[in-house]
Formats: sequence, C-alpha cells, structure tokens
Amino acid sequence: MISQSTSMRSHLCGELRPEHIGTTVQICGWLSRRREHGEHLAFFDIRDHSGIVQCVVDRTVDVRSEYVVRITGVVRERPEGTLNTQIPTGAIEIGDCVVEVLNESEPPPFPIDSRADDVDENIRLRFRYLDIRRERMQKNIRLRAKINSAIRAAMELQEFVEVETPFLMPSTPEGAREFLVPSRKEPGSFYALPQSPQLWKQLLMVAGVDRYFQIARCLRDEDLRADRQYEFMQLDAEMSFVTQPDVLAAIGKAVTAAAEAATGVAVPPIEQITWHEAMNRFGVDKPDLRFGLELHELTDIFAATEFKAFSTAASIKGIRVDAATYPEQAASGRGRLDALTDRAKQVGAKGLVWLRVAEGKTFESPVAKFISATESAALCDRFGAVPGDLILIVADEWDTTCEVLGQLRNDIGRPPVHEGPYRYVWVIDFPLFVGIDAVTGRPKPGHHPFCHPHPDDLQYLDTEPLRVRAQAYDLVLNGWELGSGSIRIHEPELQRQVFNKLGISDEEADRRFGFFLQPFKYGAPPHGGFAFGIDRLTAILAGEDNIREVIAFPKTQSGSDPMTNAPTVVDAAQLNELGIRTLPPAVK
Ligand code: ASP
Repeated sequence: MISQSTSMRSHLCGELRPEHIGTTVQICGWLSRRREHGEHLAFFDIRDHSGIVQCVVDRTVDVRSEYVVRITGVVRERPEGTLNTQIPTGAIEIGDCVVEVLNESEPPPFPIDSRADDVDENIRLRFRYLDIRRERMQKNIRLRAKINSAIRAAMELQEFVEVETPFLMPSTPEGAREFLVPSRKEPGSFYALPQSPQLWKQLLMVAGVDRYFQIARCLRDEDLRADRQYEFMQLDAEMSFVTQPDVLAAIGKAVTAAAEAATGVAVPPIEQITWHEAMNRFGVDKPDLRFGLELHELTDIFAATEFKAFSTAASIKGIRVDAATYPEQAASGRGRLDALTDRAKQVGAKGLVWLRVAEGKTFESPVAKFISATESAALCDRFGAVPGDLILIVADEWDTTCEVLGQLRNDIGRPPVHEGPYRYVWVIDFPLFVGIDAVTGRPKPGHHPFCHPHPDDLQYLDTEPLRVRAQAYDLVLNGWELGSGSIRIHEPELQRQVFNKLGISDEEADRRFGFFLQPFKYGAPPHGGFAFGIDRLTAILAGEDNIREVIAFPKTQSGSDPMTNAPTVVDAAQLNELGIRTLPPAVK
C-alpha cells in the first residue's frame, strides 16, 4: 500500500501494527468510541477509512462522538490480557497522546458502525455522508472503484478507446422511458438523457473508431427495485468487424478481470446457453445456475393421456422438489401446496398439479387416479424421483409452463443473490421479437431495434417473424441480468425492414432517427457490442442484495433523495424561462 501520510498525519489508523511499536505517530480521524478507564484515563477508538486504533488519553480531554481529532503519540504494545483479536490493530495502542480537536460534531443520528445496518433506510440516506463513514460502505465504495479500475484496464489492454458521449440527446427508440430536459432556447422542445450511449457508439463505429468503451452513466425513468436505479453505470462497449464470439470474448475478459480483482478468486470460462434452452430448463431468460430443480419436458409422456387438463395443453412441464435437498418443501402439508398452487395461478397458470411420490412409482395426489401406471413410471424415471419427492406439473402454452415453473423454481430454491458460488452464463440467441402486440397486430421487439437478425433466420422475417432469432445475448450472474448486447444491423435496407415490421414507417424513421440512419449510408462496418451494469456486478461481489448499498448517493425506492430532497419544486421564473407550465397534481 502506498503511504497515505500527509502534512497532517504520519499513518492511517488501521495500518498500525506491532512493527510500529516505539514509533511516534500522528493520526487523524473521528472519535468512534470512548471508554473511561480508571480515574485518569480514557480509551479513544479513533477511526479513519482504513480502520480503528485505540488511543490512551487523559480523561479530562473533552472529545465526543464523531469529533475530528489529530492525535500524536507513541505506538506501544497493549498490556497483557487486553489484546483485541477482532481488529487488525488489536495488538497495539497509542500512548502518551496529545489530542488536537480539529472539529466538533453534533451527536450523530445513528451509531457509525454495523448497528446502523438496522436503521431505517431513509435515515441512512438522509445522512448518507455519515452512513458512508461506516466500514461497510467504505468497503463497498472502494470495491466499486477497484472494479471500475479493473474494467478500464482490461478494456485498454484490448485496445478499446475510451470516448465520452453526450448527455443531452434526442429521444431514441431503445425501449425504456426517458428523462427529458426542456430546452430554454427552443421552448417546447426537449433533450432526452441517454438511456444508454447506444446510438453514439454505433456512430463511432461508422466513424472508424473500431473499438470503443465508456464507463457510462445511463438514465431510465423506470420503477426502482433492488437491482434498478434511475441512474446506473454500465461498461458500454462496441467493436467493428466482429462476430458474436469476438464480443463475448472481449467482454468476458473485462467481467472476469473485475470479478477477480474484487474477490481474488479465478473465474472459470463463462458458459453459454441458448435462450430457448434457458427457458426450457430454467423457465426464465436469466437462469440462476447455482441450484438444480430444473424443468423437465413431460409432453411426450402424456401424449395419449385421458386426463383433460393434460390432453388439451400444448406443453406439459414439471419440476421435482427432491426430499433430499428440500426436505421442508417436499414434506410440506396441504397449506404449503395450496400456497404453491396460488402462486402458480398468480403467475398465470390455470392450475398446478402436485404429485407426492410414493413406493412403487405411484403417487399420492388428488389427480393420481387420472395418471396411468405407465405414465407414473415414465414420470418417476424422467425425474429420477424417489418416495418422498414432490413433483409439480404445469400444462399450458409453452411460455406459460416455462414462466410459471421458472418462478416456482426460483421461489423454492434460489439462494440470496450474493451467496456463492458465482455462476456466470451467457444467454445467446434471444428471439428478435417477443409476441404480437394485441392492439397493433405487429411483433414486439425483444430488445432495441438495432439487433441483427440471425442470418439463418432472415428468410422468416416476413412470414414467421416470431421464429427469427436475434444475434443478441445477455450476461447473467446468479440469476441477475448483468447486461446485454448484440451484433447490430449495419445494412440500411435491413434496418428499414425491421423498423417497418415494428410499425415505424420510412418517413417516421427518417424524422425520428434520420441522424442515426443517414450515417449508415456512408459505409457502416459490421459491428456489435455489449453493456453490463457495474452497480449490479459490484453489489453481487460485495455480498449485497441491493444495488443502493454500492452507490454513494442512491435514490430511495420511490425515486427521491432524502438528503437533498430531490426532486424539488422549482420557482415560477425558472419554469417561465423554459416555457413550462405545470398542472396541479391529478385528483385520484
Ligand atoms: N444499449 C444496450 C443496453 O444498454 C446494450 C447494448 O446493446 O450494447 O442495454
């Protein structure tokens, strides 16, 4: 570690060790705790970002919680029996102390230690500058910096060029709700804040930059959740003259470097799975590979069934809750089974069939009588089921069976997101379109409309659009989507076709994105890229299950900042200048 000594201090609090015994040191920091000791002395625990050190001070010194002090003293061994093995400086203390008060502090609203974990989040955020003084937040913020730095180094090593792109831009068709910024010079017109630098980075490819990256702030006006903030940071990258494996390899290196820098643990090569396989086996497009409970296809087993609920369904799938791994769930009584059924219905199933496996490949279940001996045996064999296991079956449309069982699988088996091992997976071959819009009758885009259709599927673009795969891919870690990317359309004619499919006419495309389409007429190279969320990656690697814990100044779930009170009302003069009149809040 490079010395952080300054003209005011010789050492950091947390760096003092027995090797410093006998040295006169000067430390600066905050009073974390004070304990009176006998008639004359007091112990001061002094904290800075590196840790805590104990100082033995005259008890008449008037220093209270969070006062800022400089202490000059001599490092000495702690008397026998008073060693503290809980902290790295626990073998020493500073004696013969001269204390200078650099600043006073009001009593803090919560203790600046792990006890604040239980304090209401609004209070933590209102006093975020005190919250960040705590070890947990200091660790998270520094981990984040390390991750950023490793990402930057990995990208530079691969000759990516860092380019900054504008914040004020026109509205774009990327799919998320945008934040708008009113123009003063052109009242009634608005800039959009970037939901991502997507357009810019593609233009940089037309511009011959070849390999671009940016640690970019993106803004989306979407409801906030544990893994979503209005503002978030992405590693954003784009490359020319590449196919999908090139992009995955380059991004894989950056993620791996970041994860290894953060955890010190080598990341094995990242596996790949197609979207279709992910849906079939895990029921979701962001599969958590840390646990089993995989979905199994059962449609063939019930090809000749007379059980009405099965015979009319397009797809039958099931999961086995094995009694060995999930004894509680497998052994659950009727209450639990009813709860599972309710959950399945809530996600969209018409019902849930449960079968408890009994001896001789038979089942205990209200519907057992509808299942023939051959079907029972085939079912048990497919799952490798043994007595005591519970089999859950959904029969419906393919996407419903996937979705419902995928949700039940996660409900039953998913560990907290940060619990190891870290399982990265590329999900590739996403569909270009996801379903048909009931109102317009047109296909809905799976991602942004710049994704290149899979060359093998171009032939279906007009006739069977839902069959067309995109050259689009996601990176998933422990069931969290870290990011996504694609090979882009670089042919203007194909881009026009895809826009048309989505109901964007040539005229509308020219009017809204002419600035983007025009350059593609000047020799756009084949290109592709990716972006992954640094907040999410950092949260998982920091062992946090909410990205707010790794963001210095996040917004609350409701999108406000209790410290600055943003968003705030602005005065009429400011609005006038922008040509804006606000409406009274809608009456509910
Ligand atoms: N712009 C996309 C996003 O932010 C990522 C990409 O396609 O590169 O999700």
